[in-house]
Formats: sequence, structure tokens, C-alpha cells
Amino acid sequence: MSPKSRFSSQEQARRVKQILKGLDKAYPDARCALQHRNALELLIATILSAQCTDERVNLVTRELFQKYRTPEDYLKAPRNVLEEEIRSTGFYRNKAKNIQGACQMLVEKFGGRVPDTMEELIQLPGVARKTANVVLGVIFGKAEGIVVDTHVFRVAHRLDLSHSDTPEKVESDLMGLIPRTPWISFSHQVIQHGRQVCKARRPLCHTCVLEKVCQSSDKVLAFPHPRDQKLSERGSRQ
Ligand code: SF4
Repeated sequence: MSPKSRFSSQEQARRVKQILKGLDKAYPDARCALQHRNALELLIATILSAQCTDERVNLVTRELFQKYRTPEDYLKAPRNVLEEEIRSTGFYRNKAKNIQGACQMLVEKFGGRVPDTMEELIQLPGVARKTANVVLGVIFGKAEGIVVDTHVFRVAHRLDLSHSDTPEKVESDLMGLIPRTPWISFSHQVIQHGRQVCKARRPLCHTCVLEKVCQSSDKVLAFPHPRDQKLSERGSRQ
């Protein structure tokens, strides 16, 4: 069972409305930052993004996706070659194994296509709900859940939307609070907010559109270091 919230359900509903409104205002065009041209590319990029920045993944996939176009292409590659090609994303042995395992299953079980249901996607090696939610939302426009990556996990805690200790439980808490219609955009908006403003080490609370609803003990209202200020301005122009 999830730890109890300090807010009543009525207060929480009011807060959620304010949060959704603030996110819409700040990030009207938030979208997936992983570059891809189709479902297979997004699946591979999302597997590679575990414990890695999207920027790094995009650098690696720029070349990878020129060479590998189909699941069969990944299966034909010697494991050690694929490992070297994705090495800089970290955990490369495991990721290469998962990519080839997932491609094997795509070929054997799904006719070479990326499936479009949660039930099928999470059968693929290396694919948990987070990756499945990214693919379902971005490629198929299906809101079957909410993407909980490291940013969403942190922001959900700071905003008192969840106090659970696993991504699965945080997702379930969020699904109970956020109306289904904005699940896809909410995921992208919170990821962008976590990346640009509600940073792990030094959140830029003075620029935060959610500051009024946030009661986090991590809140920092002092004026930021000039370096953080510059980064924040750069981020908001992107
Ligand atoms: S006020 Fe600060 S801690 Fe709270 S959501 Fe905004 S950036 Fe994060």
C-alpha cells in the first residue's frame, strides 16, 4: 500500500488541476527527446536510455540507425560488435543482449513488428512498463500508463503526488491521481520539468511554475548560482 499523503483527496484533486495547468503553460510542446523514425528505433533508443542521457543515446543512435534498419539486422550482428557500438551508453553488455533478445522475439512472435499492447511489449527482454509506456504513447498514441523515469520519480515525490518507493508504485499512484486524457503529455512535461528546472541536485525553484503548489523540503528559493541561471535560460529557449 502507498504511504499516506499529507493532503486530503479534495486538496489533492485541486493541486493536480493546478499542476496540470502549470505544466501545460510551461511545456505546451513537450515531446519525447529520443530521436527515432519508427517504432523499432524508439524501442531500441528507449532500451539504450536506461541510466544514460537522451543526448548520449541520440549521438549513438545517429550511426546505429543508419546501419540497422530491421530486427533481422540486429540479429545478424556479432554480439561484440553491437556491444562496441553502444558501449558509451553504459551497461552495454546487458543492453546488447536485451536488444538482440527483443529483436529475436519480434521476429519469432510478432511478425517482425513492434507490438502495440502493454501485455505484449513487456514480454520483450529489457522492456518494462517505462519503455512500453514510451512506445505506446509516442508511436501508437495509447495512454495505458504514465512513464516513470528518474525525473518523473523525483518530481512526483517533490510535488507530493507519490511517496512510493518503486517506479511501478509511483506510476500506479499517478494513474490514480491524474485524469487519463493527459497521461501521455503529462509524462513528457514532467520529464522536461525534471530535466530543466526540478533538477536532482539544485532545483531552480525561482523559475518554477509549480512553486506555489510545491511543499517539498528540497525547495530552494535563494537566487541560483550564475552558471545554473545560464543553463536554465538556455533550457527554456530550447
Ligand atoms: S518548487 Fe522546486 S522542488 Fe518544487 S517542483 Fe518546483 S523546482 Fe521542483
